[in-house]
Amino acid sequence: MSGTLLVTGGSGGIGAATCRLAAQRGYDVAIGFADNAAAASAVAEDVRKAGRRAVTVRADVADSDQVRAMFAQVDGELGPLNAFFNNAGILFAGTRFMDIGEAQLDRMIAINFKGAYIAAQEAARRLAKSRGGPGGAIVNMSSMLAKLGGGVENNDYGATKAAIEAMTIGMAKELASDGVRVNAVRPGLIDTEIHARAGDPGRVGRLMGSVPLGRAGFPEDVAEAVLWLLSDQAAYTTGTILDVAGGRGI
Ligand code: NAP
Repeated sequence: MSGTLLVTGGSGGIGAATCRLAAQRGYDVAIGFADNAAAASAVAEDVRKAGRRAVTVRADVADSDQVRAMFAQVDGELGPLNAFFNNAGILFAGTRFMDIGEAQLDRMIAINFKGAYIAAQEAARRLAKSRGGPGGAIVNMSSMLAKLGGGVENNDYGATKAAIEAMTIGMAKELASDGVRVNAVRPGLIDTEIHARAGDPGRVGRLMGSVPLGRAGFPEDVAEAVLWLLSDQAAYTTGTILDVAGGRGI
């Protein structure tokens, strides 16, 4: 399957790599971003260089109105979606469970869970055949920290990603008869800006020893898995959480 794909968090890291690979695989791409308009524009330029159409759409996924406006803008500027990568997310610096403050917890839930939930609903409403949609595929973004309980320092993050996994499984069951497959990727330690943004630029180097394959993942490693899950080659795969973790967490 190719067609029209929206990627939240398309301006950075895994999302940007997925937008670029998607264009090479024949998708027109809507690049969601929160703040970094210049990075989103650079990704859009690469999509156009690959011969596909691109739009950039600003939305803080913590704001439901902005999420709905983002989907409406994509409808208007790129046309009907048949694929959605629900990728945007944040991480905070490692904090002991007992010390995670309520404001941090609220922000984590607002972006990594509620924002992703509202966005998944908007996508499902557009794709579901019973609502007049074309069918299609959705990939949600989990993390190996869902399985690891957030490790020893990111429990809030791990808990939101575990919720994403439950959402994915329920969505897959409900939307199968609507022609919509729903899966998630569960990346391990991927070398992106998320670690520095969390105030911990040394995180990848520090945790590398926990990866059996002996290296951090590239954003492109995850993009390949996402594009496969979206493709017709994955036609019989739904409700799956696919580890892309170099063996971390097994
Ligand atoms: P990244 O390099 O920090 O990129 C994050 C992307 O999300 C950026 O495009 C950013 O947009 C966007 N974003 C951040 N907050 C947002 C908000 N409130 N609303 C809308 N967009 C927002 O991170 P990444 O490593 O690629 O992470 C992408 C996803 O993979 C996240 O869900 C993360 O939890 C998950 N993940 C990452 C790893 C890892 O090791 N890197 C492992 C497992 C799972 P702006 O640039 O415009 O701010």
